[in-house]
Amino acid sequence: MEPPPADLPEAQRRAVTFPDRPLVVLGAAGTGKTRVLAERFRWLVDGGLRPEKIALVAASEGRADALREWLERGLAGGYDELVVATPVEVATVLLAAGTGGDTPRQSTLSASERFALLMERIDELPLERHDFAGSARALLIGFLRRIDRLKAHLITADDYARWAASLDERGEPGQAALEREFSEVYRAHERILAEAGVRDTGDLVSDALRLLGERGAVTRRFDHVLVDDGHELDLAGRRLATELSPQRITVAADPVLGGFSLEGAERISLQRSLRCPEPVLQAASAMLDVPAAPAEHPGTVSFWRCAGDRAQAQSVAADVERVLTRDGVEPGQVAVLVPSLAREGQAVAVALEERAVPHHLVGAAAFFQRAEIRDLLAWLRLLADASDAPAAVRVLARPPIELRSVDIARCIQIARRRKLDMIAALAAATEAPQVPPEARERIRVLLKLYRAGMAAFDTTRPDLYVHRLIDRLGLRRHQLFAAQADVVQRLRALARFGELAAAYARRSPQATPRQFARFIASVAESGAREQDEPEPPAAQAVQVMALDSSAPVAAEHVYVLGLHAALALPTPEPIPAGLRSGAQTRTAAGEGDLDLRRVLYLAFTRAATRLVVAYPDVGERGAALRPCPPVESARITLGEEWEDKPEELFGPAEMLHSTYRLLRDEVLQDTMRVGGRLGELRLDTDLDVSHAIVRYLELLKLAALIQRPEGQSLAEALRDVNARILQAVTAEQREILSSSALDDYLLDAERDVRRRAQVVRARDEPSLELFLPKRGDGVLLSASDIDTYRTCPLKYKFARVFRIPQEPTIHQRFGILVHQVLERFHAREGGAGTLPALLGLLDAGWRRAGFADTEEERQLRGKAVAALERYWERFRTEVSEPVWFERSFTFKLGPHLLRGRVDRVDRLPGGEYELIDYKTGRPKNSEQLADDVQLSLYAVAAREAWSLDSSTQAYYYVLDDRKVAVPLDQGDRSQWIREVTLEVAAGILSQGFEPTPSYAACSVCDYRLMCPAAEH
Ligand code: SF4
Repeated sequence: MEPPPADLPEAQRRAVTFPDRPLVVLGAAGTGKTRVLAERFRWLVDGGLRPEKIALVAASEGRADALREWLERGLAGGYDELVVATPVEVATVLLAAGTGGDTPRQSTLSASERFALLMERIDELPLERHDFAGSARALLIGFLRRIDRLKAHLITADDYARWAASLDERGEPGQAALEREFSEVYRAHERILAEAGVRDTGDLVSDALRLLGERGAVTRRFDHVLVDDGHELDLAGRRLATELSPQRITVAADPVLGGFSLEGAERISLQRSLRCPEPVLQAASAMLDVPAAPAEHPGTVSFWRCAGDRAQAQSVAADVERVLTRDGVEPGQVAVLVPSLAREGQAVAVALEERAVPHHLVGAAAFFQRAEIRDLLAWLRLLADASDAPAAVRVLARPPIELRSVDIARCIQIARRRKLDMIAALAAATEAPQVPPEARERIRVLLKLYRAGMAAFDTTRPDLYVHRLIDRLGLRRHQLFAAQADVVQRLRALARFGELAAAYARRSPQATPRQFARFIASVAESGAREQDEPEPPAAQAVQVMALDSSAPVAAEHVYVLGLHAALALPTPEPIPAGLRSGAQTRTAAGEGDLDLRRVLYLAFTRAATRLVVAYPDVGERGAALRPCPPVESARITLGEEWEDKPEELFGPAEMLHSTYRLLRDEVLQDTMRVGGRLGELRLDTDLDVSHAIVRYLELLKLAALIQRPEGQSLAEALRDVNARILQAVTAEQREILSSSALDDYLLDAERDVRRRAQVVRARDEPSLELFLPKRGDGVLLSASDIDTYRTCPLKYKFARVFRIPQEPTIHQRFGILVHQVLERFHAREGGAGTLPALLGLLDAGWRRAGFADTEEERQLRGKAVAALERYWERFRTEVSEPVWFERSFTFKLGPHLLRGRVDRVDRLPGGEYELIDYKTGRPKNSEQLADDVQLSLYAVAAREAWSLDSSTQAYYYVLDDRKVAVPLDQGDRSQWIREVTLEVAAGILSQGFEPTPSYAACSVCDYRLMCPAAEH
């Protein structure tokens, strides 16, 4: 038998060669536990065990894949099949063996698929007591999370129902009834799954445990079990792993994160880190006591205090770029860990994109944020519903159609004016004189694809259909020529979409592509966490991932961001104390107390050489932030200072390099796009070719500038290079070159990176001038227009320039109805009426507005009645006197025209006036209203349009019966709002529609499907 490798320290060697008995190997992060398991596997095989008789249980699929690859490389002889798998996969193997080869995984649904299933049958869920709070989606996702967590702790629906029935009403009021209702939801979930002939992953593990109990001899197919990161397994996973082979088992676990208790097992402790150098280990030890000596190689830890989220993202991107280009580090050796992928992750992705650094956003819902997946979704949605305008806009804007913005706007205008669905409008556009011939040609291509798609939409099998659709749209072909580092992942994502369709077809053999389209759109909407794991360090992209899923990663350079004092990480659903078994109450990773220190310990110990810890010192709304206390104590322990990081501007050299890389990617993509058109007889093919050539020449120009002689200024070099290039081009190319904004950008000392992206990406997009809401030389604006533009200029473009039709949500309809009821109530002759009259108006309006009788609608109705009763009471007793309701205003500000309507104006006892706006959403506090636009603008409007000075302005949150005044302490608000208005109007007139993605804006944006900034 071959001895373990000589470089293994003594404790590790002992663990590898330990006799065939239960063993727990305890070691902190980075002490080589996984390597011990791999070497032990090899040692057991050398000792005569068949590889397929050893099961290696890992905590995640990604880690199982990496381990399998590693083991396969080291195995010289043949074997049947290696079982290196998560508990769920091991359960699948056991069940397949126990049921004679059926693969139970095919009938197992992910959380988002279950969400879609439940959403379809939401009326069957007992939901009288649970508050929808504005989102049925959030409520269902919460239920699924809770159910999954209960199953991970082997708590069934019946267990929960028994426990809920035993609760008395002495606790929190209503809590017992709420728990009982949830237990019914849990039961309904189980029933709906059973009726659909499917199960979830929790069922797989408990079914396998049952099988092991009943037919142990049949299913006990493993002679030895190895468990990696045992501390991460939940109760069900632990039990399964232990029962596979109770007498021959080796578990590796981290004692800092709870270890692993295994009756009668020997313990070996690994006491030296092989990964983390001293400073990194010191920082980790400031989080939790780490019982390990540091690795011998050097390392550093830096602490960054950044001037806001954007500065933080930019500083990281700039530093990563330097590390990759200057130090030659592989992108896969860099990991960026963020509290929230949607918030900080998105900001970092944008900053890395700006520098053309290959990166990969790993984790939550990333699959449905992929451009190619969104393309497919948009097509399926459009095929399922011809009036789905957001889907149509995406389909029009993306390959293979790529209609220019101005022509998209024309098509939407046709749809709106003639009241047509998008497909009928596009058919009309092919005859419309205002649509230029080349755009009509592109629209005809779309219509041809659409008709071909419709031909089989109600007859073919969904998986076959998706396969053909991908081919027809050229999505795979397009990826092959793309320059992004994650081409393989994109192709894999397309394959996975096909697998989702195949699994759906297997489950519902009679289902059509139309049904699949609805199903998958709902799955995408769920936003539930998707399985998308970090990759091994060889990956050719920097990985940006959530802090709490960093465990599988180890990298040379690790950046941990967003560590301010207000940081709150998602916490797992709590298991009620009455449902916990003794073993479950002990602390262990993956159980209830996933606290900040544990997460940070894990995050810090990912770093093999360099750790950067950062926080923004101002929040989104301008509030000052402090570092979170554990980080501050780590800094003090290490005796380091905070390094201040302002917003980074590109230096001249890095600007040239980054622009070169960005342009290089564009050129490669253009090659594919334009190449595809050469075979078609398009009217604008020549122009496309010239644009592609010019783009290449610009790339050449950048290469020449990068290599200009030392000492030569950029301006001088640019003049020389331009002169040479211009000698070699046609007249058409010369014209395009001279209209390019690239030179100006390169020479502009104040250059800003967003402008660079605009410069690089801008093709010959004609002006949208015709579609701007202009009045004379100015713009027509409302308070909500200003707000939308300030939130995100691209959102403004979608909403107010394209004017993409949107179906109002149930909550928007509800808000409109409450406004109308109050307006009608106050408009009655002789003043406001009685409470029955007010409620009568609600009754009539409710029917007219077409509300149905779902649980959510019943709840809204109940809230409206309660709110109106309170409103009426408040109204009766208020000392102020309402003088106007729904009063309109129009006034000019410079050349711009401002319009709007104030819900209510009250005269206060002192004779002053108060402007009031009704809201049906969640109340904001004064701090959140600090930069409020709407009421500040109304105050100016009251003065300008009605010559009325108002002393206060307030929002009245109708459902909560709360009035919140806009703070008056902001200096001259009226001057401020004028400046804001003029700035927004100027932005619109200059067609500045660059997106400004942020969590707050994008998470509630109706245009996510078509927005390039919200995808990867
Ligand atoms: S998704 Fe975000 S970036 Fe895109 S338009 Fe909406 S708000 Fe702007």
